[in-house]
Amino acid sequence: MSAARFTVSFGGLSHARAFEVMDLLENDLRLDPLAVSINETDEAKALWETVAWFALLEEADAARVVMALPYSVVSAVPERDWVRESLAGLGPVSAGRFHLHGSHDRGVHPSGIVLEIDAGTAFGTGHHGTTWGCLAALDDIVKRRRPRRILDLGTGTGVLGLAAAKHLKRPVLATDIDPVAVKVAIDNAKRNGALPWFKGRTAAGLHHPSISTGAPFDLIFANILARPLASLAPGLAKMLSAGGQLILSGLTVDQLRWIKACYVNQGLVVERVIRSGNWIALVMGRKALGGTASKRKSPALSLKAAGLGYLQDA
Ligand code: SAH
Repeated sequence: MSAARFTVSFGGLSHARAFEVMDLLENDLRLDPLAVSINETDEAKALWETVAWFALLEEADAARVVMALPYSVVSAVPERDWVRESLAGLGPVSAGRFHLHGSHDRGVHPSGIVLEIDAGTAFGTGHHGTTWGCLAALDDIVKRRRPRRILDLGTGTGVLGLAAAKHLKRPVLATDIDPVAVKVAIDNAKRNGALPWFKGRTAAGLHHPSISTGAPFDLIFANILARPLASLAPGLAKMLSAGGQLILSGLTVDQLRWIKACYVNQGLVVERVIRSGNWIALVMGRKALGGTASKRKSPALSLKAAGLGYLQDA
């Protein structure tokens, strides 16, 4: 919360005079303004004002008396809660049964799987189309399956792994190339009561022994960028169990064909494409032995009501 401030404005000045008044305010030893600025108030008449900020009302008044100019106004600057205002753009987010909010919005979601995640040094509050698309894909998958082993590659805040862990109560291995993100993800796991199922590790791509020992995974999230997704295709496909699903995101609409092709070449099939703005979440499946990857097709409009994106059957 900022402290209260007072301004004194001297209006009806020419541009040159506004500068002179600014100099006088800054250099008069009887005055101690916090800041002084000039603004154009009437472009047509070329009128300017000089505004000085003070911590105390008496100081603003004193400046008015000392300057003795014809047009002067002292006003209080309303207090503003800058923290709250900067968080206003980060309101609660929902994707199906998953609901996310920052600590400033605690209590807004009465039911469902609720996660509290603050914006900070790691990516993933649910506001980005890629995160939202992955959560929407997860919501769709868990309607018909309960994956047992889960990998969240590029976990950021941990958001995707935490959503899965909280809902499924099954082990999630969450990795990130950035150790700061891994720490944030573990803190978020604690805060959201998901620590018993959540293991965070620093790893670049698939280079970590806990990934190879944890494989095969029934569900893999990889919300990174298109290029690393393309180079990880052979490795990620090998890590996926028969009947398992791979949720890929971080790709844009024009990169969809390329990324689809990379994974189809590894023997996977496209199950769903979820779009949010220009971002895509692509669900690839590995056919279960003796069956199809996904027997059920969900209605294309099921998540359109959320207003954030739409689903399309592959
Ligand atoms: N999963 C979160 C964060 C996605 S941002 C969400 O869906 O919102 C992508 C994350 O992937 C970043 O935290 C970044 O550090 C990590 N990352 C990027 N390339 C990676 C790589 N090659 N291996 C592991 N993590 C990677």
